[in-house]
Amino acid sequence: MIEQSTPRIEIHLNKITHNAKMLKRLFAQKGVKITGVIKGGAGSIEIARAVLNAGIHSLADSRIKNIKKFKKAGLNSSFMLLRIPALSEVSEVVQYADISLNSDLDVIHALSREAKRQNKIHKIILMVEMGDLREGILPEELPLFLQEVLKLEGVEVIGLGTNFACFGGIVPTDKKMKEFSMLVRKIRKVFHLELPIISGGNSANYNWFIRTNDVGEVNNLRLGESILLGKETVDGTVIPGLYNDAFRLVTEIIELKRKSSVPYGQSAQNAFGEKVHFKDKGMIKRGIVNIGRQDVIVSGLRPLLPVDILGSSSDHIVLDTSKCKLKLGDTVSFSVDYGAMLSAMTSPYVVKKYIPTDHEFHYGTVQATVC
Ligand SMILES: *Cc1c(COP(=O)(O)O)cnc(C)c1O
Repeated sequence: MIEQSTPRIEIHLNKITHNAKMLKRLFAQKGVKITGVIKGGAGSIEIARAVLNAGIHSLADSRIKNIKKFKKAGLNSSFMLLRIPALSEVSEVVQYADISLNSDLDVIHALSREAKRQNKIHKIILMVEMGDLREGILPEELPLFLQEVLKLEGVEVIGLGTNFACFGGIVPTDKKMKEFSMLVRKIRKVFHLELPIISGGNSANYNWFIRTNDVGEVNNLRLGESILLGKETVDGTVIPGLYNDAFRLVTEIIELKRKSSVPYGQSAQNAFGEKVHFKDKGMIKRGIVNIGRQDVIVSGLRPLLPVDILGSSSDHIVLDTSKCKLKLGDTVSFSVDYGAMLSAMTSPYVVKKYIPTDHEFHYGTVQATVC
């Protein structure tokens, strides 16, 4: 039964819709449209619908497999493929994605050939490298690159994009964003191109957007974490008025005993090749919950009861529960960061429980006040 199964991740769909609505309204104030990035939902149709319910009809995912699933479910939206396509997947990309982000000429050639074969025009956004050093065409190489792309049939360049704070941790400062807009203006002028979509980044662009009085040419942002977890991603702060608790991980206690706080016997490495050290707190109440590193990035969990995470193995997390009156079978809930959400959503062992309307939060079986 989904209601009580553990481990489970509880997803408050109304909070996701609320966040998406608020962000759509906020960014519209300076003429920026939102593309809802739902890759954190690992192909969840319910989460896609929650974003659509906010009136956002442009969704994006990093996996073509997920986009294929959304299309087959008949969702009323355009779909953008975020991860630059692999040569081996161009046929599905042309078939299912309305727009793809691109940075490689060979891939675009392949998209062009495939689009002609499928009798389609595939829309592409060219990604520009601005220093974060993941995907992107170097600005100085963009003119020649574009010149080549414009010769191809079957593909239409509908805009330019850039990305920050994903790989290299580079911040989209006002200076960087001005540089990007200048490049856009230059390219428009030289090529007499409209380039209707200028996609300036992701949730890391929030602070820039709030503070700047000139968004330049940017008229689109691709927002994932800020919709799903209510956070901007440069400082990791919660955006005012948004929920940061749309996701909750619920686990169950499977052993509870008073034991030493320090392992005893001859000490070597653990199952993950780590040499672990523990603080000596004497005898403590230790609880084991039924989730581990195979299911979730444990460092991204924060218990919602006053218990401490002592460590984890592939299928267990060990807690110090000394401050809580827990019993076997009680649940312990955790808040999740982006990595923990992503891993739990992806794990087939974590049940997904969708909560459609306002609902009391589940902090664990025991109320925090008795701990
Ligand atoms: C994941 C991703 C995004 C969304 O990033 P968030 O930080 O979750 O807003 C935007 N663009 C690209 C290319 C991505 O891969």
